[in-house]
Amino acid sequence: MSTKKGLVYNLQNFAIHDGPGIRTLVYMKGCPLNCTWCSSPQTQKRGFDILHLETHCTVKGRCVEVCPLDAITLSAEEGFVIDRTVCDYCGKCVEACPEQALELAGGYMTVEELFKEVDKDSAFFRRSNGGVTVGGGEATMQPEFVTEFLKMCQQRFIHTAMESCGFVKWENLEKMLEHLDLAFFDIKHMDPEIHKQLTGVSNELILDNVRRASAMRPLIIRIPTVPGHNDSDENISATANFATQLGENLIRIELLPYHKFGTQTYSRLGMEYALADLEPPSADHMERLKEIVESCGVAAEIGV
Ligand code: SF4
Ligand code: SF4
Repeated sequence: MSTKKGLVYNLQNFAIHDGPGIRTLVYMKGCPLNCTWCSSPQTQKRGFDILHLETHCTVKGRCVEVCPLDAITLSAEEGFVIDRTVCDYCGKCVEACPEQALELAGGYMTVEELFKEVDKDSAFFRRSNGGVTVGGGEATMQPEFVTEFLKMCQQRFIHTAMESCGFVKWENLEKMLEHLDLAFFDIKHMDPEIHKQLTGVSNELILDNVRRASAMRPLIIRIPTVPGHNDSDENISATANFATQLGENLIRIELLPYHKFGTQTYSRLGMEYALADLEPPSADHMERLKEIVESCGVAAEIGV
């Protein structure tokens, strides 16, 4: 029995958008990118994080009393402030809060523990031809753990998928692909310089990995479509032209319209959200981008 532990953010049951059938999504912690529009900043850090929900915070002060490191201050001027440079994520404040206003993001699980959780939904997988999809954060940041987990799922005949930004050493990705039935890769921009400005890293490794992965497994390319950032006709058609090189394993390109669901999470983490004023793209605009992809001879869908 493996004792390897992975840092998992969360599990989501009954998902229907990240692979066939009814799926359980596993969100791993940690991501090598820092996308300007990221809607899950609580998964980015390669360690624990702590979130504070101001609207639930009515019984002021319990957290301050229990914190052994004096990392929390409450004042009339600044309200609740947590010094994350001091906090060691012991979780005592989370346990002490009677209003559930604090959340510790991240928890260690063994492969067996994670599999046991996922396996609770196996009747739904069987009836719907569903399975498990590992994402994040970035699933490939914990390659050994994820590889073992995928392998265990496949041994028990559970369909496996992974959602990845593709920024990973090929040797690690290759091992994960061996235990995957379907891979999703995000391509955020085709221009290496702009990709770096938007995400913190260049795209050469990502594009190379996607090319190599397409020789091994069925895959879907996803473009998070962010107005004014990567939704120009030129970039969408450059991505579609790249996709035409991926052969028969490419299923389609999915255009995912930018949304604002993660906005509140930034304030819960004490962070500023750079795109707070950006509005989602219109349905007409998304349809037009879909037509551009299709005009390059690539199947396209507008996702959610
Ligand atoms: S790759 Fe995903 S999780 Fe990582 S920063 Fe970008 S949007 Fe966030
Ligand atoms: S997690 Fe622990 S160290 Fe951090 S603020 Fe809460 S009680 Fe203090």
